[in-house]
Parts: sequence; structure tokens; C-alpha cells
Amino acid sequence: MNTQPEHIKTLIIGSGPAGYTAAIYAARADMKPVVYTGMEPGGQLTTTTEVDNFPGYPDGVDGPSMMVQLQQQAERFGTEVRIGQITAVEFSKQPGQPHKAIADGSKEIMADTVIISTGASAKYLDIPSEQRLRGGGVSACAVCDGFFYKGQEVAIVGGGDTAAEEASYLSKICSKVTMLVRKDQMRASKTMQHRVENIPNIEIRYNTEVDEVLGDQVVEGLRMVNRLTGEKEEIAITGLFIAIGHTPNTDIFKGQLDMDEVGYIQTQGKTTKTNKPGVFACGDAQDKEYRQAITAAGTGCMAALDAERYLAANE
Ligand code: NDP
Repeated sequence: MNTQPEHIKTLIIGSGPAGYTAAIYAARADMKPVVYTGMEPGGQLTTTTEVDNFPGYPDGVDGPSMMVQLQQQAERFGTEVRIGQITAVEFSKQPGQPHKAIADGSKEIMADTVIISTGASAKYLDIPSEQRLRGGGVSACAVCDGFFYKGQEVAIVGGGDTAAEEASYLSKICSKVTMLVRKDQMRASKTMQHRVENIPNIEIRYNTEVDEVLGDQVVEGLRMVNRLTGEKEEIAITGLFIAIGHTPNTDIFKGQLDMDEVGYIQTQGKTTKTNKPGVFACGDAQDKEYRQAITAAGTGCMAALDAERYLAANE
């Protein structure tokens, strides 16, 4: 058995727009990047259909295709893409010292510089009935799973842009969409609010939360509770979509990198530098503000440039 750790120049953890853009820049700068894709190769955009707001695509592009193209672009310049996960890290405190990473639980890697682009994941309500029925009618991705509920009645939880966008998407497939908004107003942009309010088969329930998801093996209904009156009501649905925001995928870096209270990695000033020399963070793992594919790609580019300067200074 080979017990020697593999020594690489640049390790990129995560394969969304941030990771692949970092890889394109790093590969072109001869930094020999190795990308570990993580559990969801291609990141969140692989769960989207049409991306209409990424510059350069006048007719839009579907998310999965865009991620395949980004990967191909990174590979064209020599990026090595590995389907696998970094499961632990040990960042060095000394400039110029390599950082240790463990891939897939056992493979040891030493990297001169590390770019973190692990993104964020959907949040769930974390009530027992919802947890039990995940995969049995409870989903956090309308675009991935909406198709299975064609012509059926479903509900969606959340009042942000994601919930509004997904409710609108589901309304085209499903016979009825009940939208549960916990406050007396939505957080979504006025345009999105207006859009969902005007779709006839979307019913918006304000001040309403999930009390329990009903069903043994699959979702059969929903008990809702009105937060003002305490009144409970049951409706028959076959699918429940959760669209209540995201959590950054930064657990493996806890205790080693500075983060905010939610777990977003803190970067220094206008750079992608973390508090560990040679470790850089980009994309949604460090951005709770903008969270767009184009901003993630932009910070991916910045991370590669920051890493390149770091390597040059520590050669
Ligand atoms: P947000 O954090 O903006 O909204 C989350 C929503 O879920 C809020 O309405 C929140 O309610 C609600 N919520 C949170 N926790 C619970 C809970 N436990 N039970 C019930 N409801 C809950 O997340 P989004 O994913 O919607 O959006 C994230 C960012 O991405 C935003 O900046 C958004 O503008 C952007 N975005 C932009 C899009 C576009 O421009 N096309 C599309 C999608 C997202 P409350 O308000 O009460 O806290």
C-alpha cells in the first residue's frame, strides 16, 4: 500500500461556477489544479433548468449543460477533475508550508495552496415528519423533482425568491400549489411576489407554517398551523417542497478558518484570503449576500489570482 501522501500544487475543493472558474485561471497559470467535485458535481446549477442571467448566453442555457461546459473549459487547460470528496483538512499556519487534506476518508494529499469553493446546500425544516418523508415526497428542489407531481396538488414552504420562483415553476406542472409563508409578507422581490400572486393555481397562505407532514411511506397531506390564531388545517397533497434558504458547506473547515455565526467563511477585505496563509475561499461558501453564478465565478477567478500570487511569493 502506498502510504506516501500525494503532493500537488493547487487543490480546489468544489465544482460549481466558483471552483471551475478558479480551475480555468489556475490551469492557465500552470498551477496544475486538481478539483475534487464533492457530492454534487457541478454544484447547485445542476439542479436548475434555464439560466437566463449569465452573461454571454443571449438565449439562456440550461444549468447542467453550463456546468459541463465549464468543466470542459477547465480540463482543456489541464485541470484534473476527480469525482470525490475532501473529508478532512489540516491547514498549516506557516506561509509556504503545504496544507493537508484527506480525500474520500483515506487518501492523504499535501497541497501548496487550497481554494475552497464548496458552495451551500438547501435548508430543511428539521421536523420529524419532514425528515422521515425526504425522498418520499419531500424535496428541496422543485426543478429536480417537480416533474414527478405532474397534475397533482403540492405545497411549497418559504417566502423568498427561491420559493416564489419554484412556486411559479411548479404551477406549470401541478394542478395546485399552496405556498406557506411564515410571516405576513414575503421576502421575495416585488416582481416575484407580483408574479406568484397573479398565478391562478397558486394559493398563498401567509402567517402559516408546517405543523406536520402527513403520510407513512409517502406524502399524503399537510397539517398547517396559522401562527396568529393557532388554527390548524389539513390539506391533501402528494409533494412538499422546502425553499427556505441555504447553509454553507463549510463544516470540515470549522475550528480552522474564521467564519460568521452561520458558517460562511470570512475573507479579508476585497480578497479571497482566509485567515490561513495559502487558503482561499470563493463562491457561496463565503458569500451570503449575492449568491449568483456570475458572482461565484468572479470570486473563483479572484481566488486563483490570489493563490497564484501566494505561490509566487512563497516559492
Ligand atoms: P431567503 O433567505 O431569501 O428566504 C428564505 C425564506 O424562507 C424566507 O421567506 C424565510 O422567512 C423563509 N424561512 C426560513 N426558515 C423558515 C422556516 N424554518 N420555516 C418557514 N419559512 C422559513 O432564501 P432564498 O433561497 O429564497 O434566496 C436566497 C438568495 O438568493 C436571496 O438573496 C435571493 O434574492 C436570491 N435569489 C435570487 C433569485 C433571482 O434573482 N432570480 C432566485 C432565487 C434566489 P422569513 O422571511 O420569515 O425569514
